[in-house]
Amino acid sequence: MKTYEKEIKELLKQLTLEEKIGMVHGDGLFTTKAVERLGIPGLKTSDGPMGVRIDFHNSKWIPVGNTDNFVTYLPSGSALASTWNQGLAYEFGKVLGAETRGRGKDMILAPSVNIVRSPLCGRNFEYLSEDPTIAKEIGVAVVLGIQENDVASCPKHFAVNNQETDRLKVDTNVDEKTLNEIYFPAFKACVQDGEAYGIMGAYNKLDGEHCCHSNKLLNEVLREKWEYEHIVISDWGGVHDTKEALQSGLDIEMSVTDNFDEYFMANPLKDEIEKGNLDIKELDKKIKNILRVMFKLKMIGTNKKDRKTGSYNLKEHRDLTLEVAEQSIVLLKNENILPLKKDVKNILVVGDNANRIHSNGGGSAEIKALYEISPLMGIKTKLGGNCTVNYAQGYKIDEIEIESGTNWQELSLSDEQRETRRENNSEENKKLKEEALELAKNADEIIFVGGLNHFYDSEGVDKKDITLPYGQNELIEELLKIKPNMTIVILSGSAFSADWIEKAKALLWTSYNGMEGGNALANIIFGDISPSGKLTTTFAKKLEDYSSHSIGTFGELETLDYNEGIFVGYRHFEKEKIEANFSFGHGLSYTTFEFSNFTVNPIEENEFQINLNVKNTGKQKAYETVQVYIKSNDTNRPVKELKAFRKVLLDVGESCNVRFILKLDDFKEYSTTEKEFVLKNKIQEIGIGNSLSNIFEWVGVELKF
Ligand code: BGC
Repeated sequence: MKTYEKEIKELLKQLTLEEKIGMVHGDGLFTTKAVERLGIPGLKTSDGPMGVRIDFHNSKWIPVGNTDNFVTYLPSGSALASTWNQGLAYEFGKVLGAETRGRGKDMILAPSVNIVRSPLCGRNFEYLSEDPTIAKEIGVAVVLGIQENDVASCPKHFAVNNQETDRLKVDTNVDEKTLNEIYFPAFKACVQDGEAYGIMGAYNKLDGEHCCHSNKLLNEVLREKWEYEHIVISDWGGVHDTKEALQSGLDIEMSVTDNFDEYFMANPLKDEIEKGNLDIKELDKKIKNILRVMFKLKMIGTNKKDRKTGSYNLKEHRDLTLEVAEQSIVLLKNENILPLKKDVKNILVVGDNANRIHSNGGGSAEIKALYEISPLMGIKTKLGGNCTVNYAQGYKIDEIEIESGTNWQELSLSDEQRETRRENNSEENKKLKEEALELAKNADEIIFVGGLNHFYDSEGVDKKDITLPYGQNELIEELLKIKPNMTIVILSGSAFSADWIEKAKALLWTSYNGMEGGNALANIIFGDISPSGKLTTTFAKKLEDYSSHSIGTFGELETLDYNEGIFVGYRHFEKEKIEANFSFGHGLSYTTFEFSNFTVNPIEENEFQINLNVKNTGKQKAYETVQVYIKSNDTNRPVKELKAFRKVLLDVGESCNVRFILKLDDFKEYSTTEKEFVLKNKIQEIGIGNSLSNIFEWVGVELKF
């Protein structure tokens, strides 16, 4: 790829200190300052992972309010990852990038690739997985797709931003091995394999340093070890010190206030440089990174005329959201209930989520969707006029009134914890329950659609537990008594638990699934499509089963000690032999598959080719995901670790060969003495299966070192 170092040097010579300062901090809530005299535009950014956010006034958190910024609402990160489909994630990225460019932006603040350490984190719905291999592969695919469109991606939040409680000040303590094996891989892969043009710092501290200007994170790891030469942008309000910001690998400071000249990297930085207290050479490094990205994006330079134009709200974009949504829904349990027959005459749909729109919530990931098909609408449009579809809300949610003209983000730097949710146990709730139970008596089928919403799955606030709110559990129990065959759909951004899980016969999980989410759900429930989503996090029986809550720390604490180390998610469940409700990688289908002819052959020293056959032996065309795990008998290592996965589509009776290559790096672990990944265990095993708890066969390999 062409480098622009000569052009960058030329421009740098011509820029005044004042102009350089304008380029390294927000001159609007989502843009830096242009240098018109030299043809350098401001860098226009926008949230976020589920589509391009609305336009705000430049210096106020007040939506511009025009009708021109409705967009495609894409499934959330938790949904996308559940597809286990890298190719689809790449297409997803392409849509997001095209819409970003179409809306005239240069950088989309996505994807969110933090590890799901605890099921309580309010932003889990944006994140991809508890497992670094999933986060890495899906994250990189999104980055590559976005950047096809001459816009920058910006994976966030670097690093260990795994809870919302006290996110602006909490100090995380994570050992080096764990950082390198669990929390860094997705970021490293996004900047190295995906060549991400942006990366966003996290609000929290790591080892006492604010991540947005951490010497360790940004200089030693990102710039020196990973040789990153593109833009590091702060989270909005994540900078706290002028000198540290200048001397760290950070390039651009953004925030939520409109006193732009007072940002740490604005006048305070200019003054210190003018007084000779800080070195302008450090500032020049930042300008070079910014200009480098601007050249690559064709924002400046001779290629400017060739910059892609982008587009938004194309039919292809909506088709893609449907595809992602369909492939993300996870069939957790099915005792011969699903799919339901379409000639049913009388259906009762129960639950607030059947009738709720989610696109407009969640924090900075909120979307002004062109439309959003709710589950109720998806079901009704599928069945048409010959079926009576009754609806009962079943339980009540008290919505928070947001004073008009204010935006939570404006207040997000204040010390106050963001409180968005409310329980409602009122008389009204009781009435709604009774009404649902009454209607249930005469229904041929019942579909319950409950779970959480963006009052729970939201930026700035964590959940308190993994049980469902609003009295849903009691309602479900009672409905099950009337109709044991009821289909239960839980919509949430991460794991949930309930006593009735044992009694449920048909259980689906869906996350925030984009504008076509309701259609996707109806397509699955009524069998037009076989479910193929798989869990990317463990669904435990209770909160204390997660290592962050049993060994580590979480929540309102000055310091968060990640004492569980690398034993995050399923790595902990397997080590401690804790049975989960549904394991990592789990997801059922309407068809059956046969895995056969599994072979592992060395192709070079320490490199193995894996081959197997997958056959659709059932009655419906469907996707299956082959999962490749490794294990050794070293008790310091996780029992199993996911190393590769591939999703294949097979017609009835069709079979295909699936091939993987595992390389030396896949068998290595991080050594704190050698400060790099090394091979420690000579004898390891490679297993293939369709979930962590369903491995069909293991083959031993011997590595040479
Ligand atoms: C969030 C970021 C987001 C930024 C800009 C912050 O509150 O943590 O993820 O990109 O705001 O809206």
